Amino acid sequence: MSTTLYRPKRASSEGLVPLARRPAAQPRRARFVPWSAGSARIGCTPLVKLRLRIGHRWCDIWLKLEQFNRGGSIKDRTAYGLIEDLEERGHLHAADTIVESTSGNLGIGLALACQERGYRLLAVVDPMVSEYSLDKMRELGATIEMVRPADASQPPLARRLARVQDLREHDPRVVWTNQYGNLANPRIHRDHTGAEILRQLGHSPDAVFVAVSTGGTLKGISQYFRAAAPLCRIAAVDVEGSVVLGGSQGKRSIPGIGSSRQSDFLRDRPYDLASYISEAEAVAACHALRLCTNIGVGGSSGAVIAAAAHFLRLHPAADSVVCVCPDGSDRYEDSIYDLGWLRSKQINVEEGVTLPFDDIDCN
Ligand code: PMP
Repeated sequence: MSTTLYRPKRASSEGLVPLARRPAAQPRRARFVPWSAGSARIGCTPLVKLRLRIGHRWCDIWLKLEQFNRGGSIKDRTAYGLIEDLEERGHLHAADTIVESTSGNLGIGLALACQERGYRLLAVVDPMVSEYSLDKMRELGATIEMVRPADASQPPLARRLARVQDLREHDPRVVWTNQYGNLANPRIHRDHTGAEILRQLGHSPDAVFVAVSTGGTLKGISQYFRAAAPLCRIAAVDVEGSVVLGGSQGKRSIPGIGSSRQSDFLRDRPYDLASYISEAEAVAACHALRLCTNIGVGGSSGAVIAAAAHFLRLHPAADSVVCVCPDGSDRYEDSIYDLGWLRSKQINVEEGVTLPFDDIDCN
């Protein structure tokens, strides 16, 4: 099975010579193209092995680095899956406008797919979105609509979804990808992300840790692992203050992970463990990782790494875990990697945070 999700459907024939008429091969020096839209891919992201010290014990921790997707996050896969699904079901036509509520990463993935396939994108965002994501989406041709909650009691997501509903009611050419309920979301992670992890690893790990918001990534990976490696534990990772898995609502500032509503995909609890990590611990794990290994990840990845370390501490027989790291540090330099921003959000890391691991190392 091909592991590359990116298959241009309507590749332009410009510059291509049909095989039969191709001139005799000339010896040519390979030309290095650092980036081109046609060769940028989704999927086949690296699985990198690090070592985590828990007391006197060193454990293997594998990071699935989704920042190597073309738009810089795991949501490139979701965007691809959602659009393919709508096209296959005949719900998308040339010049339709796709509308979606996004915290940033899905918007970037959708903007890339829309640019490639000729759709317009209207991304509905709230003030938690990063400047980085806004710039990226605009650069790729998306229209942005920023919604502000009418009053403090209305969660930003509810306002975003109300606006999406409005837009759909007023324009029949507006099509909602619906990352919250479309089964194409978990499906792409079952068929690709989950399968890729197990194939790259070559054996079943003790557990796989996945951050949640819509729950699509977790649901899909769980579906794959439950069938292919049933002994592997599946861990859902959320931040304090989020209600994706239930619980009570609180203040949250890290974009991407968590939500003000429960996930529709996770009602049947397709996970064995649930972990709630504080935003300070998630941020501290990001900083420790970058300091010790030069690998920069986003806040949801920090939460996942912290959750994995708690698990390893509690399970002395476990020695190999996978952490799905949804994105990289590029989009968080002015937030979770900025002390001023952390202070403004009262995420207190300056006085030191006790991390659940004692060391992290690439050797
Ligand atoms: N981490 C980051 C950085 C994200 O952008 C998202 C998606 N918002 C998630 C984790 C959670 O993914 P999912 O929506 O599939 O649960």
